[in-house]
Amino acid sequence: MIIVMKPNANKSSVKEIIDIVENKGLQVHLSEGSEVIIIGVIGDKSKLVNSNLELLEGVDKIVPVTESYKLANKKFNAEPSIIQVGNVQIGGNKLIMIAGPCAIESEEQIYESARAVKQAGAQILRGGAYKPRTSPYSFQGLGEEGLKMMAAAKKETGLAAVCEVTSLEAVETAVKYVDMLQVGARNMQNFYLLKEVGKTNIPVMLKRGLSATIDEWLNAAEYIMSEGNSNVILCERGVRTFETSTRNTLDISAIPVIREKSHLPIIIDPSHASGRRSYIEPLSKASIAAGADGLMIEVHPNPANALSDGPQSLTPKAFTALCENLRPYGKLAGKDF
Ligand code: PEP
Ligand code: MN
Repeated sequence: MIIVMKPNANKSSVKEIIDIVENKGLQVHLSEGSEVIIIGVIGDKSKLVNSNLELLEGVDKIVPVTESYKLANKKFNAEPSIIQVGNVQIGGNKLIMIAGPCAIESEEQIYESARAVKQAGAQILRGGAYKPRTSPYSFQGLGEEGLKMMAAAKKETGLAAVCEVTSLEAVETAVKYVDMLQVGARNMQNFYLLKEVGKTNIPVMLKRGLSATIDEWLNAAEYIMSEGNSNVILCERGVRTFETSTRNTLDISAIPVIREKSHLPIIIDPSHASGRRSYIEPLSKASIAAGADGLMIEVHPNPANALSDGPQSLTPKAFTALCENLRPYGKLAGKDF
């Protein structure tokens, strides 16, 4: 439940309530908005049945929160969260472009990608070093060697960087090199991994599971946040449907649904959603129009020779043209880029 304070409530009333709640063994999440203070209560609220909180000074109303996710819930944090990723803010009034290859393949490949996406206007470099491939015989990523290459490219270009993690060892290594961790679709309900990234203090981009409902996705975010890391960014990457023309089906409606249910920013990945480079531009435009905070797009210097996801990767030239074509859409949506 949440306790909504009156606009003129003073600090001592807030403290009195926090003390009562904490003395019952429950956790408090304080949200100080521009208008009102909201005290979120986490735990078994039946412990408060006889506390008559609504009669206390400064309390406006008590609102039950029926959803199982609390920290990720908009009721707990009415204002949209802005997450700092290196020198980039996700969730503010800028459209964030995350771009780069599916996987880091060589020093030359990641440098070339980084320079190209930076020049086109991207702020964050992507590149996988631990690849969760469908086949065990497919390229699995360069691991720490790849991260070292990415860190060097990041240093040269000034871009922030994100890399997927698939195990505790990967988390421990990746935090030394990147500004944001990614939990991939296949690991969205790997609760052990969610808790481990929740114990770090760097932002986490949480992709939606292949067949996950939005409530399951927000509960996965809650796993990370309940470990103390509130810097979570959601990423819609298409869900599995009966359609075979595209790799997945991009759920555009996830954007307004997330806006209604959560304060967390949302990024759209049209590359994995469609699996085809020719669909990326229209899906990007739709995502911006629906209010996405940013896009994640796969770019490879030579898609025909990419070790993974070549058919959905854009060349640097095509990515530059895409950014140009998206700028007016960003403007219309009130997000410069
Ligand atoms: C990726 O972004 O590299 C990736 C593997 O995507 P997903 O987890 O969405 O399949
Ligand atoms: Mn990929």
